[in-house]
Amino acid sequence: MIVFNVPPLVGNEEAYIGQAIKKNQKLCGDGPFTKKCNSWFEEHFNTPKALLTTSCTHALEMAALLINIKPGDEVIAPSYTFVSTVNAFVLRGAKIVFVDIRPDTMNIDETLIEAAITNKTKAIIPVHYAGVACEMDRIMEIANHHKLFVVEDAAQGVMATYKGKMLGTISDLGCYSFHETKNYSMGEGGALLIQNKEFMERAEFIREKGTNRSRFIRGQVDKYTWIDIGSSYLPSELNAAYLFAQLEEAAKINNNRLKTWEIYYNGLRELEEKGYIQLPVIPENCNHNAHMFYIKCRDIEERTKLIKFMEESNIQTVFHYIPLHSSKAGMKYGEFSGKDRYTTKESKRLVRLPLYYGIDPESVCTVISHIKKFYKMNNERTNDINKMVLL
Ligand SMILES: *Cc1c(COP(=O)(O)O)cnc(C)c1O
Repeated sequence: MIVFNVPPLVGNEEAYIGQAIKKNQKLCGDGPFTKKCNSWFEEHFNTPKALLTTSCTHALEMAALLINIKPGDEVIAPSYTFVSTVNAFVLRGAKIVFVDIRPDTMNIDETLIEAAITNKTKAIIPVHYAGVACEMDRIMEIANHHKLFVVEDAAQGVMATYKGKMLGTISDLGCYSFHETKNYSMGEGGALLIQNKEFMERAEFIREKGTNRSRFIRGQVDKYTWIDIGSSYLPSELNAAYLFAQLEEAAKINNNRLKTWEIYYNGLRELEEKGYIQLPVIPENCNHNAHMFYIKCRDIEERTKLIKFMEESNIQTVFHYIPLHSSKAGMKYGEFSGKDRYTTKESKRLVRLPLYYGIDPESVCTVISHIKKFYKMNNERTNDINKMVLL
């Protein structure tokens, strides 16, 4: 069985969790391992402040609180994304204005954003799909011109760059995920990266149930108290210990994933050249992080057949997302701006192949050969049908 995902494990995770339990005797949030993770991002990603959170969903909720989203505000986002991208803003009362994606990267089409802006628009939420950057220069230009906040959903973008900058550090606020399906994991977890200095102090209050406990611990105030709204967004030290082991090996994990990605790309090129499938596109300014490898079939019928064929060969392949604007909640809380040229069409063609840290290259080759076999059979069948029509 070739499974779709295995959570990353590099070696020191258990030892560090043991340290948190026995040596540090610190299990709640903001202990030594959480601090090490925060500093790691600040140092390696050149960002003034990083705060581990309980998930990317919660990092996005913190962002919505920080930019003061109020009922009636509008937020611009792609419809082709995970629910949390927009749910965090809907929780604060926002209406979501969905913008179509570009078919090459599956990211929000930056040329359609301005048409979606109204006097109620408060923020743009670009999602770096598959760790491939959105066209951030243009998005930041639009945001500055219209005085909007930008919150990057970089859940899939840890270690990927746009023009040399780490994804998640380009806009006001960036959100990471360390869910077990992401490149770096702590089971469930995330981080908020803060570039806009006006949010730094308040982010600590919000993350600590609306209190100034962080300042109290640092000795900056002599008692701590409730000063803002907030919630409990700080993860346990046990989870942070697991993540820190992975951050120390971040380059190793990244290189291993990129190698797997290259095997898929080179192995499947032949099928793209024949016009059977399409492969991912990486624009020139982007260094991606091999968060996923996907192919695009001709249409949903072909995709369903391919997934079934792979399943019968004991290979797990998956697809996502059902476009949010066509979902029950999406229809209630959002509205599509302009025409849906690509969101629905492209989402129905995409299928994701097994890719995780340490996947055996032989398994990757097995996946490739099965896809080739499928298209060979498919093609022979179409040729036969064509012959019958000619007769
Ligand atoms: C995984 C993911 C999230 C949610 O991350 P959690 O840490 O599970 O909350 C949000 N947005 C995108 C684009 C994701 O891929």
